[in-house]
Amino acid sequence: MSETYDCDVIVVGGGIAGLTAANRAAQQGLKVVLLERGVDERYLCNTRYSGGVIHIAFRNVKDRPEELMEAIKQATSGNADPALAKALATTCGRTVDWLSEEGAKFIRVGQIAWQQWVLAPPRRIMPGLDWEGRGPDFTLRTLANNFGTRGGRIFRGTAATALMEKNGTCTGVEARDAQGTHHFNARAVVLADGGFQGNRELVRQHICSVPEKLKQRGPSTGVGDGLRMAQAMGAHVTDLDYFYGHMLSRDAFTNDVVWPYPQLDELGIAGIVVNTAGKRFADEGLGGVYLANAIAKLPDPLAAWAIFDEAIWQGPGTTARIPANPHLVKAGGTMLKANTLRELAAQAGIAAAPLESTVAECDRALSAGRLAQLDPPRTPSAVEALPIRQPPFYAVPLCAGITYTFGGVAIDEHGRVLRSDGGPISGLYAVGATTGGLEGVKGCGYVGGLVKGLVFGLRAAEHAAQNINNASSAAVDS
Ligand SMILES: Cc1cc2nc3c(=O)[nH]c(=O)nc-3n(C[C@H](O)[C@H](O)[C@H](O)COP(=O)(O)OP(=O)(O)OC[C@H]3O[C@@H](n4cnc5c(N)ncnc54)[C@H](O)[C@@H]3O)c2cc1C
Repeated sequence: MSETYDCDVIVVGGGIAGLTAANRAAQQGLKVVLLERGVDERYLCNTRYSGGVIHIAFRNVKDRPEELMEAIKQATSGNADPALAKALATTCGRTVDWLSEEGAKFIRVGQIAWQQWVLAPPRRIMPGLDWEGRGPDFTLRTLANNFGTRGGRIFRGTAATALMEKNGTCTGVEARDAQGTHHFNARAVVLADGGFQGNRELVRQHICSVPEKLKQRGPSTGVGDGLRMAQAMGAHVTDLDYFYGHMLSRDAFTNDVVWPYPQLDELGIAGIVVNTAGKRFADEGLGGVYLANAIAKLPDPLAAWAIFDEAIWQGPGTTARIPANPHLVKAGGTMLKANTLRELAAQAGIAAAPLESTVAECDRALSAGRLAQLDPPRTPSAVEALPIRQPPFYAVPLCAGITYTFGGVAIDEHGRVLRSDGGPISGLYAVGATTGGLEGVKGCGYVGGLVKGLVFGLRAAEHAAQNINNASSAAVDS
């Protein structure tokens, strides 16, 4: 049975980006409908699994916009679209106020700058998944309730399949549920379907030739529908080759307690990351997101190891929010241990002599202050490179955990979807992980998934409401 619905705004996807856009548009008097593919009341999405830390390039969202712009520039090596970076830096402070007014709760974690706005109740410090009743889950449910109170309607179990258009303007969405195909006419459509990390074909095409060897850190609900639909309407897309993610224990494929936490970045950054030939293949100093991407690009992404020693295990190994030490061990993750590198290599199946010389070479470079001359070089980083000297030595089998794709639909500062010629597609917006241009341009460069969804969710709704309300008053005047 096919139904037709009329409204002002259709939002596709009910994560943080979609529910923010939907509520903000409804707050401004618009008739809004949200389509969500998930069936359950607490449908899974990246937002619900998230750690709930609202930060911007690991800075406090309330810092001065100029400082935040600089932080974004640093995090993205200057490659973020300046208009998007400015929109993010100037709007992020308002997002947490808006969320508070909506009823979200926050905690702050000590003096850690990037953890001053953590959705409460916070996730527990434990390995594995822990989302039910936690801040992001509570926040999504609060936003869904608010939306209902404002007269909005959520169609769960309903997946957008195509955009409707007339003379180049987006006029609504075609969507499917268990009953059939329906048409939702609207004056603006907001795509907020969460990226394409769950679409193996797209991941194979752009990110990793063996996508089955990437571990999904989320529920894989982002399957690139928004990207496909927007492209069909002539949207420009940005670099699709990189993702936000972390290094995880390779056991994540068989042990559900070792993902999405602990992530193992600190072990590989303070220590080294090698392949089974005992060679380094990436600049550890560029961080865990970079390393996860480098692992994903290996011919065999399940052939990387973190090598470190007791000092690293007892030092940087304990510093993450949910640190590898002790949570990897608690979760039953594999950690090989030996008194010599040769024995360690034998246990891990890594070529022993090359591993010994890789470690010795790094050690010499470190002592001589010549890390930049290593091949590949090693950039100085917040987690300092340390020597691997103090037995026992450890080897942890790694895999790349993909959280969300960095690239996506090109947008302007209002979230309007752009064509290749740079002009906006009338009536079409995209927000959150559906979009590109800010993170992952020409490489890695993580700025913050939640803040991106919140900022552009608000901005797109405000822009659409202004357009729609202006058009309505013009019609009344004439
Ligand atoms: C383990 C983990 C920890 C994280 N921790 C943090 C953190 O602490 N801080 C931070 O900033 N970021 C974090 N992130 C990233 C952050 O969660 C995401 O970037 C953000 O939530 C994305 O929001 P979104 O609304 O764009 O997408 P999502 O939350 O994924 O929502 C997209 C929704 O669209 C729906 N959908 C998909 N296709 C369709 C369709 N065709 N029709 C209708 N609906 C559709 C999906 O079912 C889904 O519900 C984390 C992510 C994970 C997985």
